Amino acid sequence: MPPLAARLKRVPPSATIAMTMRARELRAEGKQVISLSIGQPDFDTPMHAIEAAHAAALRGETKYPPVDGTLALKQAVQRKFARENDLTYALDEIMVANGGKQVIYNAFMATIDDGDEVLLPAPYFGAYQLIAQLCGGIVVEVLSTEADGFVLTPEALEAAITPRTRWLVLNYPNNPSGAAATPAQIGALAAVIRRYPDIWVLSDEIYEHLIYDGWKNPSIAAVAPDLKDRILTLNGVAKTYAMTGWRIGYGGGPRALIKAMANMQGQATSGACSIAQAAAAAALDGSQTMVAEQAKIYRARRDMLVDLLRAAPGIVCHRPEGAFYLYPNVAGLLGKVTQTGRMLRNDEDVAMAILEEAGVAVVQGAAFGMSPYLRISYAAEETTLRAAAVKIVAFCESLHAP
Ligand code: PMP
Repeated sequence: MPPLAARLKRVPPSATIAMTMRARELRAEGKQVISLSIGQPDFDTPMHAIEAAHAAALRGETKYPPVDGTLALKQAVQRKFARENDLTYALDEIMVANGGKQVIYNAFMATIDDGDEVLLPAPYFGAYQLIAQLCGGIVVEVLSTEADGFVLTPEALEAAITPRTRWLVLNYPNNPSGAAATPAQIGALAAVIRRYPDIWVLSDEIYEHLIYDGWKNPSIAAVAPDLKDRILTLNGVAKTYAMTGWRIGYGGGPRALIKAMANMQGQATSGACSIAQAAAAAALDGSQTMVAEQAKIYRARRDMLVDLLRAAPGIVCHRPEGAFYLYPNVAGLLGKVTQTGRMLRNDEDVAMAILEEAGVAVVQGAAFGMSPYLRISYAAEETTLRAAAVKIVAFCESLHAP
């Protein structure tokens, strides 16, 4: 076989996908597996978004769209930023991509040179790390602690900054911890960033509406408007409107960055699917009642699952403010042995044992840069979550000393 590129070594396969594949294998062998490993809403895309896509296709919106997004969607995004985030972006300060993930990809491709450092507050969504490395960047993990509610502190940020720091990534509500940040916390981070004019800030707000108990997610560009010319605000329709498969994400940022990002996207995928953009515009402009209704359902699931998992010996489960993940600490399970004689040395062992012996797919914290934890998605029916919790509790109860 002819050789593959050296850069592949910088991109190990995603642990979430590895867990999903192992779950698939077990199912193919006839075993029952409950999958709580994937991060996508279990609701349906709103009908008005589907109808808008259909209408756009019938209208002939089936040609190459502009690389940076259709005018209609960019205008809808502009209204969304103004309405929900108190942010004013001109149309040339907005771009649309094939999912939030491509917004990250475009931004890093357009700004990271070999050896530039990307500060990732851990735990973090693994794509930031892999995309940064693919672009030649060096990832610097900055641990946030459970005691600080999994929110980065200004002290930890300050200590991690070097002359090579190019990006700080903020993601609240957070995947995987579910943590939200207060305006005061975001303001304190902005105060540090203000002193380092060569650092870009990516504010990934894709879980913004999945937030509970009166929490409100602040956009750093609104909290610190003086920094707006180096903040990229990322969002998308995947989580808010249950539209993961439509692949529409968008970013707001300074004109020069947006232009450079569109240039990168032009050499990868060109513009995002025209009919998916019509659906996304309808979702942003249409009724928002489903968003609040779904948040209520997620909140009830969160509370149920936290309460059930707290009965599991060895698991300590924090109650997160947002997103649809729990991030329980499993330090109390390490060093124990399972029914089949497997020693649990780290969170990867725990996740694999829970999959193979209890039939529940979750993801190890190591995949998000912070161990020993598990990420458990509660974007699933209540009966499914209940059944999974019973299996996890029984698994923990069955462990013994070596
Ligand atoms: N940011 C975060 C924090 C995410 O969890 C995800 C999806 N898992 C994305 C971005 C990417 O979303 P999209 O499906 O729009 O590419």
